[in-house]
Amino acid sequence: MTKWSCLMVLCLAAMSLTLAGCGEKAPAGIPHTHNPHAEVTLCGHCGQIKDGEKCCQEGVAVCSNCGLHKGSILCCSPAISGVRDVVLCRKCGEVLLSKKCCTAGPALCPKCGLHRGSPGCCKIEKVADDVTGEEYEHAHAGNHG
Ligand SMILES: [Zn+2]
Ligand SMILES: [Zn+2]
Ligand SMILES: [Zn+2]
Ligand SMILES: [Zn+2]
Repeated sequence: MTKWSCLMVLCLAAMSLTLAGCGEKAPAGIPHTHNPHAEVTLCGHCGQIKDGEKCCQEGVAVCSNCGLHKGSILCCSPAISGVRDVVLCRKCGEVLLSKKCCTAGPALCPKCGLHRGSPGCCKIEKVADDVTGEEYEHAHAGNHG
């Protein structure tokens, strides 16, 4: 009995040490919850919904200002981040997990219900706040896409 509890204590101590070290290092992938129904991935090359019908379609007018497809969701958007894909939150319209994502501060757009002036405002469909199911946790590895 004593032998076992001793082992347990050692085990716990080792575990907490590992955890503490991990947290301090600020790992590249921060674990967070994903819900595919509550987010939309936009292609960093064309600005359309990733893998959607219009994604990287040829013969589409390109915006002279931002280089993405003219009139695409991401066209001239503040959310553009190089050629990397951008994930917008369908609950608020902001870039997913950005500072403003799902905060109560910003005014809501009367038309779409997303944060007014957010990258997704009137461009993506809002999803119900209480969307549940199919949530999964994962950590993004360094370069995602
Ligand atoms: Zn594309
Ligand atoms: Zn543009
Ligand atoms: Zn959000
Ligand atoms: Zn709107």
